[in-house]
Amino acid sequence: MKIDFSKSKILIVDDNPANIDILLELLSTFDVRAVLDGTSALEAVQQELPDLVLLDITMPGMDGFEVCRRLKEDPKTKDIPVIFLSASSDSNSIIKGFDLGGVDYVTKPYLAKEIVARVQTHLKLRMTMRVLDRLANVDELSGISNRRRFFADTSKLFEEMKRSNTSLILFIIDIDNFKTVNDTYGHSIGDSVVKAFVSTVKKNIPSYNCFARLGGDEFVLTMTSISQDQARDQMERLRSNIEQIRIVQNQDIRFTISIGMSRLEPSDRDLDELLARADINLYQAKKMRNALVG
Ligand code: GH3
Ligand code: MG
Repeated sequence: MKIDFSKSKILIVDDNPANIDILLELLSTFDVRAVLDGTSALEAVQQELPDLVLLDITMPGMDGFEVCRRLKEDPKTKDIPVIFLSASSDSNSIIKGFDLGGVDYVTKPYLAKEIVARVQTHLKLRMTMRVLDRLANVDELSGISNRRRFFADTSKLFEEMKRSNTSLILFIIDIDNFKTVNDTYGHSIGDSVVKAFVSTVKKNIPSYNCFARLGGDEFVLTMTSISQDQARDQMERLRSNIEQIRIVQNQDIRFTISIGMSRLEPSDRDLDELLARADINLYQAKKMRNALVG
């Protein structure tokens, strides 16, 4: 896999402008920003997430350790690799840098080639992690969460909603006669049906918690803090909007969906019980097709 680094965003944090100038020169092939203190660093990160942070330790005001600690406690920024750059080669300082979640620690003065190589290594690792994360959690065709991600996210959600006594509504949605769509119009039209379905759900049901592809033509969607009637109304509208879609312009290729619904009951012990009830309702809906039961 070829990885293009040139668009990688790097944030340099150093109170000495001369140090910044050297780094800007060395890293000129990247998209680099620089700030002179810790507070500005945290602001800059919030404005635009960098792919990597080069962080000086000794700075007036907030020091580099504190900046790193704060980046690591925020879920949005915790995975950004932080390389400490410091004049201090003291072992306690190095250990502290790694303990706080830094991926590397470079002492000044450093070799120009060394800093570039370390930056490249950590950018490559970060990008590889992102690709792996996507492959593990996202359905390639539709771009929504896959089955694995659904179970990871919704098992947690189930526990939270149960503990706080908040409503949780779950739908299993299955495309009707999808095999016939493939057999009649070809696999690529079948793929277009999946994509059209997903984009219609995103447009029509903006309030979902999780929307995932369980596999094939089967999808799952959850809503919280909503009454069963409101949730049902939204899905009924979706069902009827789907009927109107024409997959190919000027051709009358349409499809429908069947939906099974369930809601969290205080007696439910786990997510599987909620899914099982939605599945039973989907089975009933399939007897009619283009229907919602639950
Ligand atoms: P039902 O109305 O009872 O749901 O019938 P169905 O034909 O939709 O259901 P069935 O389970 O028999 O067929 C599902 C089909 O979905 C079979 C499989 O080839 C097709 N399929 C699964 N994943 C994909 C995909 O990513 N793209 C396309 N084009 N087809 C897929
Ligand atoms: Mg089907």
